[in-house]
Amino acid sequence: MNNIVAVENLKKHYTNKVAVDGITFEVREGEILGLLGPNGAGKSTTINILATVLSATAGKVTIFGRDLKKDVKLIKQGIGVVPQDIAIYEEISAEKNVRFFAGLYNIKGKELETQVKEALELVQLYDRKDDKPKTFSGGMKRRLNIACAIAHQPKLIIMDEPTVGIDPQSRNHILESIKVLKNKGATIIYSTHYMEEVEAISDRIIIMNDGNIIAHGTKEELNQKIHNETAYSFQLTHFDQLNRALISEMDGIIRVNVTENILEVIAQKSKFHLDKMIAVLTAEGCKIQSMTSKEASLETVFLELTGRNLRD
Ligand code: ADP
Ligand code: MG
Repeated sequence: MNNIVAVENLKKHYTNKVAVDGITFEVREGEILGLLGPNGAGKSTTINILATVLSATAGKVTIFGRDLKKDVKLIKQGIGVVPQDIAIYEEISAEKNVRFFAGLYNIKGKELETQVKEALELVQLYDRKDDKPKTFSGGMKRRLNIACAIAHQPKLIIMDEPTVGIDPQSRNHILESIKVLKNKGATIIYSTHYMEEVEAISDRIIIMNDGNIIAHGTKEELNQKIHNETAYSFQLTHFDQLNRALISEMDGIIRVNVTENILEVIAQKSKFHLDKMIAVLTAEGCKIQSMTSKEASLETVFLELTGRNLRD
């Protein structure tokens, strides 16, 4: 498979902050690449560099086989960017919005009409085409934002958290329309801090934290890691005297995380014995008020790698 994007040792430094700290990855033709990370991970900075809105401090970006520094104009023609902050005109109709953005790419006449219609149909707003966005819900505005970004039929679509703060129905519409775009042949980079979305639509996943890529792979590769693990959560009282090292040193323990009276552990199924864990907690004088266990998820992988929850 060809690479549509290749990023090598990309860095972005602000005066007081390293937002992207030397990342390397590629995006293959026809895939949906999920870019997962909490707020501040460096997703938007990365995306804005690819979208040619921001310049990098160092590193090399190749898009469609061309150097981003040398062929910005040409590359721009083939990209559609859905920015994190909605960028539409509230006072002109939905259709005029889409027509305006598509028109920036020199599309005219009948072709323009067809593509505008297709874009509005894709996001299920064609029946509202004559209405102004100021009358729309947040979710509808997000969908219109997407229509504006893809009406010129770009080969590469980059979406930055397009589902933040919207109703579940709009969210499903958006995820469905992304799959349709993929089936029509587009390559998609999709950034989010919702792991369920990444799991639902991505072919490959990159997990970012603090300007770095901390995990990457196909969904199957990450899932394989996950499927050997279970995450337990114990609600405890008489917790103060617990010697955490005793827990960390038990067989099969991958990670221990403690918040207030909750003890979370990620354990390797084949090596971990729950009865031993309970025996240790009891011997330490802790009272177990409740316990839950769940299959590990991308959220667990993130916790395991960073000690943080994705939504902190
Ligand atoms: P994300 O999109 O994953 O939430 P961002 O790329 O927006 O992350 O931000 C990465 C880091 O860079 C954050 O710590 C953010 O505060 C910082 N940052 C982003 N833009 C600027 C800027 N213009 N000046 C200084 N720091 C910035
Ligand atoms: Mg962002």
